[in-house]
Amino acid sequence: MYSLDTPIEMLTRVGKTTASRLKKLGIYNVLDLLHYFPFRYDDFSQIVNIRELVPNQIVTIKGKIVLIHNRRSHRKRMVITEALVEDETGSIKVIWFNQPFLAKNLKAGDEVFLSGKAEFDNLGLQFISPAYEKITERESINTAKIVPVYSLTNNLTQKQLRFLINLILSSAKLIEEWLPAEILAKHKLLAYNYALKEVHFPKNFKSLEQARYRLKFDELFLIALQNQLLKKYLSQNPAPQLKFKEKEIKEFVSSLPYQLTSDQKKASWQILQDLELAKPMNRLLEGDVGSGKTVVAALAILNTVLNGYQAVLMAPTEILAKQHYNSLIRFFQNFDLKIALLTHSEKILNSQENLSKKEVLAKIKSGEINLIIGTHALIQDDVAYKKIGLIIVDEQHRFGVEQRKKLKDKNKNKKLPHFLSMTATPIPRSLALILYGDLDLSIIKEMPKGRKKIITRLIAEQNRQNAYQFIRQEIKSGRQVFVICPLIDPSDKLGVKSVTEEFKKLDKVVFPDLKIGLLHGKLKAQEKEEIMSEFKANQIKILVSTSVIEVGIDIPNATIMMIEGADRFGLAQLHQFRGRVGRGEHQSYCFLFTENGSPKTQERLSALVKSNDGFALAEYDLQFRGPGEVYGTRQSGLPDLQIASLNDLELINLTKEESQEFLAKYNLDDFPLMKVKLEQGKMINHLE
Ligand code: ADP
Ligand code: MG
Repeated sequence: MYSLDTPIEMLTRVGKTTASRLKKLGIYNVLDLLHYFPFRYDDFSQIVNIRELVPNQIVTIKGKIVLIHNRRSHRKRMVITEALVEDETGSIKVIWFNQPFLAKNLKAGDEVFLSGKAEFDNLGLQFISPAYEKITERESINTAKIVPVYSLTNNLTQKQLRFLINLILSSAKLIEEWLPAEILAKHKLLAYNYALKEVHFPKNFKSLEQARYRLKFDELFLIALQNQLLKKYLSQNPAPQLKFKEKEIKEFVSSLPYQLTSDQKKASWQILQDLELAKPMNRLLEGDVGSGKTVVAALAILNTVLNGYQAVLMAPTEILAKQHYNSLIRFFQNFDLKIALLTHSEKILNSQENLSKKEVLAKIKSGEINLIIGTHALIQDDVAYKKIGLIIVDEQHRFGVEQRKKLKDKNKNKKLPHFLSMTATPIPRSLALILYGDLDLSIIKEMPKGRKKIITRLIAEQNRQNAYQFIRQEIKSGRQVFVICPLIDPSDKLGVKSVTEEFKKLDKVVFPDLKIGLLHGKLKAQEKEEIMSEFKANQIKILVSTSVIEVGIDIPNATIMMIEGADRFGLAQLHQFRGRVGRGEHQSYCFLFTENGSPKTQERLSALVKSNDGFALAEYDLQFRGPGEVYGTRQSGLPDLQIASLNDLELINLTKEESQEFLAKYNLDDFPLMKVKLEQGKMINHLE
């Protein structure tokens, strides 16, 4: 049996390449493999005789290969592998397309399981492209049972992953139970290690359901515990009281080139009041893309600095950090603020003359620099602060007790900074309360005056050429275009496939004369930044991308947002994509394409045509699809759930109650395994 920390390199059939591919999925050792859950299952558990086969039913047959050979089809230029398979009751023809190696792997006389569908053609019933597996003494893992399907990157196969997980599955025994027996009994939960086994290779659907329930319970219970612990931590740690500097704040507001909307005023007011208390602020500022959250943040920053404290603004990417840096420099041009941009890249910008990175770090430590903007690098070890009064996090994931402890430790006076999180994801209040416990909410619903409405159209396939024509015109008059493509194949986790195809089509066929950029999750951060800056500089005219493209990116010159496969996105997400245009003086457009002609889909998408209100759209979509579907998990500020979903509302409530009860009754110190899970456990890591 493999120990849980056995590195994947030590496993049978894992060479250097496979190891590096697994690592891309975050799998480094046996424990990681056990926690790489399937995203769906194929039910190949029904085994039938060949004589009993009926068309279009997914089943498994067990038989012997009588003959097998390849032939080339003249019409479609592909290799067809044909086989005849028999059992005691009869025989059937089997064909596979473009897998010529099959005729080598499988030989006449081999006993095999074949799983899939039989279909009729003019020659009678035949088995088309079934999953296959030779029968040996070992139990089957790809056929003849409920078979797991994993989410994979290019070049790793389902068979490889099933082989490896099956290889190490018995190591699940080594994992200790971390939930108290009392909770297990009360909620009739399976043992943890048993659930891990069953979630990969379930005996039957009932036990799969129980396994998934157990693992969802774990995931949500840990989140609920975290929320409770955060609440407790915040109530025990004082924050600096930052006085409302009325005179200067008024000066700042009147220095703006516009009037604040009343929602902006209200949000600012709520924040300024929070800052005055010794209780650390824990507030979420929600506002549609373009609703003007940055100026509210600026106001809070200014008030903090005027009280002699430092403010920290954290963004998810370097590009967004730099964008914030530029706009805040502009906001504060008449105020005496020292600002620095700190990211992983070597260049450090600062509002003082060319300081080196070392000098900047020294001035952050001495407190001379008042506002520090950057990425995650900001809470890393080599940055020390004098006293942080406020941290603002833009479009980030959760910010738990651990991160706050870190920040507090970086503070000389050991006070806890106030915390403001900003998001463009329209999370309804009810959902936010469930997910974040006691987070306070400020919502900006109203858009600044004079915004041009983005013209949104659902475009039928036969009008595609007209849309391209229109795009060409816009580009001719200097504008730029986004094209967003969905994940076609969920096993193509990074969405490289469809976006690459679309890119090729536009680059080679439709707009061969224009410079087109391609952006997807597989690119290195550096490459992404380069492409984004070329787009920003209007060298790239059309940017084709997956949904990885940053939420807050500001390219005022881009006026067309074209979305392929729009039905595959939630309305809230589509609305966010749309928000990336319409940021400048020019009229902007959003074109939606879908191959799904069902009236329901058309109706859902036309909601987007009619409404420009992100909250209304999210609520509308919630009725149709449930929260799990509405919000993409990444970049939404919501917990990145591995197995549970936002649709598990009942379980979310249950685990919340359970976590409260648990903490009221017990001391966490008596549950060391649970503490480990909370601190660096599998499920917590990827939340933060
Ligand atoms: P987001 O909420 O998406 O972060 P931003 O803060 O980037 O939005 O603001 C979007 C744009 O709206 C900016 O160009 C900003 O200058 C402008 N803006 C913000 N508030 C107002 C206002 N009250 N009136 C007019 N324009 C505004
Ligand atoms: Mg923003």
